[in-house]
Amino acid sequence: MIVDVLTLFPEMFDGVFHSSILGKAQDKGIVSLNAINFREYAGNKHGTVDDTPYGGGGGMVLKPEPIFRAVEDLLKDDETSSAVSHKPRIILMCPQGETFTQHKAEELSREEHLIFICGHYEGYDERIREHLVTDELSIGDYVLTGGEIPAMVVIDSITRLLPGVLGNEMSAVTDSFSTGLLEYPHYTRPVEFRGWKVPDILLSGHHANVAIWRRKEALRRTLLRRPDLLDKVELSRQDIKLLNEVKADLSD
Ligand code: SAH
Repeated sequence: MIVDVLTLFPEMFDGVFHSSILGKAQDKGIVSLNAINFREYAGNKHGTVDDTPYGGGGGMVLKPEPIFRAVEDLLKDDETSSAVSHKPRIILMCPQGETFTQHKAEELSREEHLIFICGHYEGYDERIREHLVTDELSIGDYVLTGGEIPAMVVIDSITRLLPGVLGNEMSAVTDSFSTGLLEYPHYTRPVEFRGWKVPDILLSGHHANVAIWRRKEALRRTLLRRPDLLDKVELSRQDIKLLNEVKADLSD
């Protein structure tokens, strides 16, 4: 997968793109992560990428030309590359976009080329939104100074889903949200810490019982913390039985 980020602050991505799992994913050749300064596409000697809004008022607005030119340059590379066979997704980071979810991460992880556009301080000329982008994404109902941190959040969660990126393939499958539920609790050594013991069932070596316990605890945790998720997930007959046991425990 190729991920290009258009930003005025490419240096912000240095640490994130080259450390830990994202750094290793690039070393293994699974993904190529590139931060590109779209000021290079300003087309004037001052490198101006923004201007005052028509109609007056405060704040600056990112001009359409540099961003269109930068995206079109990246599209040209795709035409000559054999690695990319279909059109990239062009994703605008903005608080007005669709709220990013694990489901969206899974959808985007199946693409070959993603282009992210990050604003900073200011707004975008509406023609970028209307005529260039394929998706608008927000990471939540709050406003940051720029789209860089939101783009890092989205790119991180997509990259960890790519086959071969996580050591243990199963770890992404049982993650919170991937199953529609929050993940079950984990324990490691020691068996007893300051008088607090690991649940006996996890020491039993009985894999089927451990699996049932984990499912029940995932259901319990989701019921207590995020009951809204239970309305959206498909529950088996066994899940419904386990959930009823959890509810009975709670009413005791
Ligand atoms: N005036 C704009 C906010 C500008 S914030 C408005 O009211 O919609 C500056 C930039 O930060 C945005 O262009 C966007 O790229 C980024 N940004 C801020 N909050 C964000 C969020 N929750 N999700 C994604 N991007 C965000």
